Amino acid sequence: THFGYQNVPVADKQKRVADVFHSVAQKYDIMNDIMSGGIHRLWKRYTIDMSGARAGHTILDLAGGTGDLTAMFSKRVGKTGKVFLADINESMLKVGRDRMIDRGLVNNIEYAQVNAESLPFANNTFDCVTIAFGLRNVTDKQKALESMFRVIKPGGRLLVLEFSKPVFPWLSKIYDQYSFSLLPKFGEWVTGDADSYQYLAESIRMHPDQETLKDMFNTAGFEDCEYHNLTGGIVALHRGFKY
Ligand code: SAM
Repeated sequence: THFGYQNVPVADKQKRVADVFHSVAQKYDIMNDIMSGGIHRLWKRYTIDMSGARAGHTILDLAGGTGDLTAMFSKRVGKTGKVFLADINESMLKVGRDRMIDRGLVNNIEYAQVNAESLPFANNTFDCVTIAFGLRNVTDKQKALESMFRVIKPGGRLLVLEFSKPVFPWLSKIYDQYSFSLLPKFGEWVTGDADSYQYLAESIRMHPDQETLKDMFNTAGFEDCEYHNLTGGIVALHRGFKY
């Protein structure tokens, strides 16, 4: 379709991703709840549980968007810790910042407009880096993983929460139908923008599967890499450590 981007130049993909998130920023949260039936909250809660985050930690919530993970981390790391809500997209960051302020989360959060492929942080800065539903939008995923590796402290970890490959063929079928026919329709009803949700479905289909992403973690230098399938592999949480 016109939104397939396998063979389009890199700059085009970046622009397309930017347009999608400028377009959906205001309605992003309600769409997440509708599309996932609220289950994204459980996936995110599980991510926090696997993060090992505790008081005093410094966390990077990369591609953090409207800040669901940042809000949970902010409570975990407390006054002595810090959470960076970082995203490439101004509109998403702005919605995220307004949301954190509305919730009174103001003491330990910083905001940064960054590209995951070339993070502007010093080596060995973070106890934990998370990227939730963000990696599939990044053009050069391997380069991004390497950039994340660089900014994690020795002993720290990376968590990638992302759509993945359903483990049962019957689930794959239902899921494909859902994402290619229902999802763009929902998207159109709620945001008036079917194209963005068509893009979403295609980016999910093209994202590396569980084992491929695990290999990419290893290539970037991470150790003890593992993944956990959630909701039958519709989503997977990958985790790796830097020693
Ligand atoms: N993490 C949030 C969540 O789980 O609700 C937001 C996820 S949203 C689907 C994906 C986010 O990735 C968007 O806010 C988008 O701007 C951001 N993004 C896309 N490409 C990026 C890049 N190269 N570097 C940093 N963020 C990026």
